[in-house]
Amino acid sequence: MKISHIEHLGIAVKSIEAALPYYEEVLGLKCYNIEVVEDQKVKTAFLKVGDTKLELLEPTSEESTIAKYIEKRGEGIHHMAFAIEDGVANALAFAESKGIRLIDKAPRKGAEGLNIAFLHPKSTQGVLTELCEK
Ligand code: ZN
Repeated sequence: MKISHIEHLGIAVKSIEAALPYYEEVLGLKCYNIEVVEDQKVKTAFLKVGDTKLELLEPTSEESTIAKYIEKRGEGIHHMAFAIEDGVANALAFAESKGIRLIDKAPRKGAEGLNIAFLHPKSTQGVLTELCEK
């Protein structure tokens, strides 16, 4: 698989509204998009840091995996996403051939219309890993 850069870091927060002043006023970053991803039951806020983004993830329901994550481990870095140049479907097939456990067997639509898929953290030394492409 061919990775060009870290596309974004996903950060679980209880409240985007409460988290944004730190990112905008202290770090001086700019939030350029807020979007609800219904099927993942999250509200997302995006900020750019060079070619990489920060994706703040706020649960919109108690059944959201983000709500469960915060309950168990508190707020913090939730996942790392790589930009894949040669296709998420190819990358998934390759990872599976190397014995990596997949959360998604096929790419699906994520925030910002990207094709995304997750690798299981049990196979990636504890880092929930997202593969994405435009
Ligand atoms: Zn993500």
